[in-house]
Amino acid sequence: MRSAMLFGPKDLRIVETPDPVDIGRGLVKVRFGAGGICGSDLSYYGKFKVGDFDVREPIVLGHEVSGEVVEVGAGVTRVKAGDRVAINPNQPCRVCRTCVAGQGNLCLQMNFYGSAAVYPHIQGVFREYIVCGEQQCFQVPRSLDFRVAAMAEPLAVTMHAVSRAGSLLGKHVLITGCGPIGCLTLMVARRAGAATITVTDLSDAALERALALGADAAVNSRTQADQVEAWYANKGTFDISIECSGSGPGMNTAIQATASGGRVVQVGMMGDTPVPINKLMSREVDYVGAFRFDREYAWAVAELASGRIDVGPLLTHSFSMEQANDAFAVAADRAQSMKVHLTL
Ligand code: ZN
Repeated sequence: MRSAMLFGPKDLRIVETPDPVDIGRGLVKVRFGAGGICGSDLSYYGKFKVGDFDVREPIVLGHEVSGEVVEVGAGVTRVKAGDRVAINPNQPCRVCRTCVAGQGNLCLQMNFYGSAAVYPHIQGVFREYIVCGEQQCFQVPRSLDFRVAAMAEPLAVTMHAVSRAGSLLGKHVLITGCGPIGCLTLMVARRAGAATITVTDLSDAALERALALGADAAVNSRTQADQVEAWYANKGTFDISIECSGSGPGMNTAIQATASGGRVVQVGMMGDTPVPINKLMSREVDYVGAFRFDREYAWAVAELASGRIDVGPLLTHSFSMEQANDAFAVAADRAQSMKVHLTL
């Protein structure tokens, strides 16, 4: 089968890899339908690393995926051949102490597709066939676009982030960064009852998309820096800030713009960055992390399958797997793209 494998920075090749043969008990073979390119895939592609995770061997990228079941192993009852599914890339062990405590996203032995967090790396989903566990498969209606189904993964990330924020009902919310994660956070925060949602970004194109999706205000933190500074006065402005840019300046804005007693949720991934601790300490602002998701994946599938969350406006480009290099170039250009998918 064909796989899109990364051999070095910007060295992505379509290579032939062995077809999966042993569809063992409890396993499901899925033909690739669509795979979304995530910011972490772009980081691996451009820098051969993401956050603290360095790539040490060739890796197939990708973890946002949907497809069609072609074969099931013995004992599988949840799905059957012909079903269209979204695949949860999380494979927590369910026996370690964090799993037992109900935090499967923090599993001590997590296998997560397309990740260099462990070595040997866990290979990703940008390949013709994926063999996964039955429990990872979530059936979606046949009428649901593969690309929409693949959005269950980033949507689940943002649902987990909003869970970490606590109740948003009646709250004034700031979202720093309106790429796909910021925009999905916007949609989830709206459904969670936020009173107002303000977004920031460096790109006017991204801000315009966020406004079209229902943001109450959109501020360019480069060209409207005075507006951002004004939020810092009088011990901050927003009840909750959700940091989706994965940048030091975005994180600084999120912390300083949050009012006393408020909370900042860090969703964006970045390298080690100085944190304005005094702003947190002296205003008793909670600073919490949000990493991946667990039960939220099922919620995300339900929201997409029912159409209660419409991700259509975020789907800007798709490319065949053979055009993977073009797809990554377009995905990296935020002026023209939002969410880019690979299809077969
Ligand atoms: Zn575990």
